[in-house]
Amino acid sequence: MKFLSTFVAFENLHEVRRLCHWGPIIALSVIAICSTMAMLDSIIWYWPLDTTGGSINFIMLINWTVLILYNYFNAMFVGPGYIPLGWKPENQHDAQYLQYCRVCHGYKAPRSHHCRKCNRCVMKMDHHCPWINNCCGHLNHAYFTSFLLLAPLGCSHAAIIFIMTMYTQLYERISFGWSTVKIDMSAVRQFQPLMPFSVPAFAATLFALGLALGTTIAVGMLFFIQMAVLLQSTILIIKNKCHAKDRIQHYQTGEEFIFPYDLGGRWLNFKQVFTWSGTPKGDGIVWPIHPKCHQHTLTVGSPYWLYYNVLLFRQSVRQWFSKSN
Ligand SMILES: [Zn+2]
Ligand SMILES: [Zn+2]
Repeated sequence: MKFLSTFVAFENLHEVRRLCHWGPIIALSVIAICSTMAMLDSIIWYWPLDTTGGSINFIMLINWTVLILYNYFNAMFVGPGYIPLGWKPENQHDAQYLQYCRVCHGYKAPRSHHCRKCNRCVMKMDHHCPWINNCCGHLNHAYFTSFLLLAPLGCSHAAIIFIMTMYTQLYERISFGWSTVKIDMSAVRQFQPLMPFSVPAFAATLFALGLALGTTIAVGMLFFIQMAVLLQSTILIIKNKCHAKDRIQHYQTGEEFIFPYDLGGRWLNFKQVFTWSGTPKGDGIVWPIHPKCHQHTLTVGSPYWLYYNVLLFRQSVRQWFSKSN
């Protein structure tokens, strides 16, 4: 039980309901199809028990599947961490800088946002991800990012297996005629494989190849976006809304904008999220900040916050006018 509880946080088991949603159903189906087909095709193409290469290939496949599912389920079930209902800052004076959430009946801690889908204020909310049917935030940021890295790696490996299986199985069945190419799927190969590679097997492999390539490209792009966000220690919402640094420098205010949670180095920002224990540093409420900033530099009520939003508004109005002209 103790061994199991290191992998599964039992207090989060009620979160299993999150599986009943199109996002996890599609994501888990893609993982199941790609890994099952890759294992079956490996048996045909590179029998694992005869050669070291075959064994390594098969063990790596199992490895990808386990790691991908481990990070995926942790991202979903551990969740982002929520601000306690009715939360107030310890120092009453700080309340003036914070927004009040009427749904959670409490103040929004720095970096937290209220998610309408989760119906709670989420610690360091990055975005609500439909594929894990949960928010990506403080506690699951590392699991989520690891999943985004591992899924394209696993899918690329699977894609190589699909291509090699189809190539080796079809090679002796293709005949080239005068301006025609014929594939004889009933032809018996010189070395009879353990399992027959029939038309349905070919179609299933081709389908799985499409899924694997699509996942590699789409999830791989998400990984690079997520890493850029994580290394600058910003969050996706802020990044999408404003590109703060660019715009403020664009207005030549003469003052450099410092994002308060950027600790001043990519490695420092990385270590804050990725730890050996799997639990990120901090309590999700009070954040380490850049020496030139304070806890409420970016929260409502602070002069900087107002200044920053006026600039963004002006920029949006200008863009709107330049588009309409
Ligand atoms: Zn709330
Ligand atoms: Zn959410």
